[in-house]
Amino acid sequence: MLSYPKLHIFLCPTNFVGIGNVAERIFAGKWIAGARIEDALRRTRQLNALGMSAIINHIGEDLTDKHDIADAVSTNIRLIKEIKKAKLRASVSLKLTALGLRVSRAMARKNYSRIVVEARKRGVFVWLDAETQDTIDDAISIYEGQVARGGVGITVQAYLRRSGKNLERLAKRKAVVRIVKGAYSESGKIAFVTRKDTTANYRSLMHDAFSHLKEFTIATHDSSLIKEAMLLNRSHRRKVTYAMLNGIRNGYAAELAEQGNSVAIYVPFGTRWIDYSLRRLREESHLVLMFKSLLGG
Ligand SMILES: Cc1cc2nc3c(=O)[nH]c(=O)nc-3n(C[C@H](O)[C@H](O)[C@H](O)COP(=O)(O)OP(=O)(O)OC[C@H]3O[C@@H](n4cnc5c(N)ncnc54)[C@H](O)[C@@H]3O)c2cc1C
Repeated sequence: MLSYPKLHIFLCPTNFVGIGNVAERIFAGKWIAGARIEDALRRTRQLNALGMSAIINHIGEDLTDKHDIADAVSTNIRLIKEIKKAKLRASVSLKLTALGLRVSRAMARKNYSRIVVEARKRGVFVWLDAETQDTIDDAISIYEGQVARGGVGITVQAYLRRSGKNLERLAKRKAVVRIVKGAYSESGKIAFVTRKDTTANYRSLMHDAFSHLKEFTIATHDSSLIKEAMLLNRSHRRKVTYAMLNGIRNGYAAELAEQGNSVAIYVPFGTRWIDYSLRRLREESHLVLMFKSLLGG
């Protein structure tokens, strides 16, 4: 298996525009729509034509340079305007650490609110990604400042032991929640570290969501969880969307959409693609499955 330092050398350029090498073709091409807003919009059009919506993410995290942060804000606002203009079925998903959380909570709150206000005017839904565990309290509190006015959702990670309590708190605020397994490396003290335990907690959160939430997204490629959610929804009749990452099991996602389910694909775009791609690689089974899917298409 590739070690991270080697991988960093392999992926060395931080901007994939014009790398034109194997890394660009494998990583950027497989998971990332491209470098520009137009690339994300093009992918969204394809998905819409297949009956699916997009959750578009301008890639970037842990930004501390004020110009980079300002660029992240203006890119997201431009994206929202383009989605509205092109009448696409798409939401946007934000990372608070791209909006200044590493500088100050106040900066992230202000930038998030600015984007949400612009999105609300245009009827574009805004998700908040879940990042490392040290950002979760801030994310919930910043989200809670906007949830009452609608049009916003937040992500809950099944691998965090505290997520059941967070979901309970969010349900009281009538939050819209996206449940994921969790993509970062967290310690066993605060997180479930095996896939089996994480999946068991996912299942538990999913049952809680069916009991207490009206609208939520089951974001996973795990067919057993998806099948169980579909079964539960026969009796609960909630507004459930099934979501997958761009380039992973998208054929299966299209089948679910064809069967009449609400399906969304998370579409990242932008030039800061290395961290995102490394997280996809770290997911052990994804690594094996990725090479299979690269070979098999
Ligand atoms: C829409 C969406 C949004 C996300 N947002 C966030 C976020 O904000 N924060 C965060 O921390 N994480 C996020 N994630 C990532 C998530 O946390 C997981 O890292 C990622 O989804 C992998 O977990 P899994 O649920 O697919 O389950 P896994 O346990 O990785 O996989 C379960 C099963 O799915 C199938 N499978 C998985 N990958 C493949 C493949 N490539 N080909 C074929 N079958 C496959 C296999 O059967 C596998 O056994 C998001 C994921 C999605 C889908």
